[in-house]
Formats: sequence, C-alpha cells, structure tokens
Amino acid sequence: MSSLSGKVQTVLGLVDPDQLGRTMTHEHLTMTFECCYFPPAPRDEAVAADPFHMRHLHWLRQNPYSCRQNLLLQQETAAVRDELLAYRKAGGGAIVENTTAGLDRDLPTLRQLAKDTGVHIVAGAGYYVDCTHSEDTKRMSVEQLTDVIVAEVLHGADGTDVRCGVIGEIGTGWPITASETRVLRAAAHAQAQLGCPLIIHPGRDPAAPAAVLRILQEAGADIGKTVMSHLDRTIFDEAALLEFAQMGSYLEYDLFGTEMLNYPYDLKVDMPSDSQRVQTLAFLMKEGYEDRVVIAHDIHTKNRLTKFGGHGYSHILNSIVPKMLNRGVSQQQVDKILVDNPKRWLTFK
Ligand SMILES: [Zn+2]
Repeated sequence: MSSLSGKVQTVLGLVDPDQLGRTMTHEHLTMTFECCYFPPAPRDEAVAADPFHMRHLHWLRQNPYSCRQNLLLQQETAAVRDELLAYRKAGGGAIVENTTAGLDRDLPTLRQLAKDTGVHIVAGAGYYVDCTHSEDTKRMSVEQLTDVIVAEVLHGADGTDVRCGVIGEIGTGWPITASETRVLRAAAHAQAQLGCPLIIHPGRDPAAPAAVLRILQEAGADIGKTVMSHLDRTIFDEAALLEFAQMGSYLEYDLFGTEMLNYPYDLKVDMPSDSQRVQTLAFLMKEGYEDRVVIAHDIHTKNRLTKFGGHGYSHILNSIVPKMLNRGVSQQQVDKILVDNPKRWLTFK
C-alpha cells in the first residue's frame, strides 16, 4: 500500500511517524467491558450497586469487574478528555486506542477527542474475544473477515470514514476457539496485504502467547510487526519469558496501575505490582530486548480514571519512568520503550 507506506494512520489521517512522540501502545478511551462482568460476593452486593464513594475506593480497586457501572467507560468521555489534556502536559504525544468490535468501539468519539486534545489517536480494526463475536461474525469465512479488516484500515469502520491504523486488539482466550482462530488468520492475511501493525490479546495461560504467534506465522503474519499484550498477567517464569521473546514479537507490559490481590479471571495468577513490572522491564533490558518492549496502562474501567481516584493515563510518564531510571533502565532505553519502538511498530511498511 504505497499511500500508507512510511506513515502512521491516526483517526485524523496520516501523520509522519516522527510526530507521535511518547506513545502508550494499549489504551481504551471509550468502551464497555460488560462482556467480562464478574458477579460480586453476596456480602458485597450493596457496595457493588453504589460504588463511587471514597469509602469504597479500596473495594473497587480490588473488585473492578464486579460492578456493572464501573465497566461503562463510554459514559466518561468528558473526564477522558481532561485526562488526555493532562497526558499532553505530562509529555505524552500519542495513544493506541485498540478497542475492537465487541467492546463498543466508537470512532466518532475518538476523532473528536483527538481534535479536542491534540493527542494522536490510532484506532484498532478487527474483533475481540469469542464471547463477543456475533452470530454473523462466527459464520464468516477467513476471506470475509479479512475483507472487513482491510476495509476498516483502508476506508473506515462501523459505517464511518474513520480509518483504523492498527489491527487489534485481536482477542483470544484459552484454549483458542475456532472463531478466534479464523479471526487470527484473517488478521494475518490483512496484515500481509497492508504491511500494518498488529496487536494481540492472548488467553490467560503461559502457553497462549506462543500458540497465537504460531497460528499467525502459519497464516503469513509479520511477527516482527506484532505486539503481544498483557504479558504481565500471562508469563511469570523468566526462562519461559526469554523463550517466548525469541519468537520476535514486541513484548507489551500494559497493566501498569493495576494491582489486585485476586484476579477474578484466573485465581492462579498473582497480579504483579508496578514495582515488579519495572523489575521485569529491567530484566528484559539486561537480556538485550530494549528494541522489543512497549508499555501502557490498558485503562478499561472507570475506577482507573483520576476522576474516580485512579492513576489515569499519565501514570507511566509521571511515576513509572522515574522508577525505571531508579532501577537501572537508562534514559536511552526509556526513550526506546516510549518513542522509538511504538513509532517503528506503528509505521506502515
Ligand atoms: Zn485492552
């Protein structure tokens, strides 16, 4: 695609990659996460029904998915606009907003937010996890799915003329379902046609990221232009992480700001703290992966906005970067993680 080649595609059009600046590679500005509602314990039902009070802050941080109101990020566009202005002031330049079909993607709102705030916003094409696939989606062939994804990048998505600049987050569970496999193959075919960036949400099993990459590889994807999200809740063993890293994708630590005792979707997981995330980044730097790491917050619930006592979109810039510098990550490596790696990934071939 010569017209896209060498450019990054934002919701306001093509931009020169050097314009992006510091980039969070996995965020949501408007979406619903109702697909993943997790009922509260009976003793917590009253709190869950009316959670937005100071006295419930701790409960909400520990149980963000057990409160239906908290899952409706799309109701907070005014607060998100303020946050993006703060993000710019903190030195942020761009955000990959990888909400896909199944999470209530809202491209007109993304375009308006980009206009209002000056933050470069890159939107996502394709489909989230199986339980959000419509009956229509489940019936589609790989070729039909490919055509939809390609059109979302070249012409616009959801009946708008707003074009996506990345494929994903493409959602997969564990085990990977037949419908998810078709979507993965379609994403690979579309990426091969377009030379565009691709981002994956893997299932919650240490074997899931590699299994996804193998499906993508067989279907002709460019693994070097693919981001594997959510490694902070997926691969914990250092040897396993290095083995996965050798497959060549970008390695994304994107749950900065999320600290909880019990991760409801997989109680076997001990969600790391931000300090532990920084330790893992320092480890990957030492092992030579400074050109492969990207980071973000993956904000997808209301409680993570500053309006609700959360850390907001500037947490990494304000608090995590100083901690990284304090733990042996160099300023040059920080710049690679925040600027150079996202820029290289997002630029069309
Ligand atoms: Zn996400």
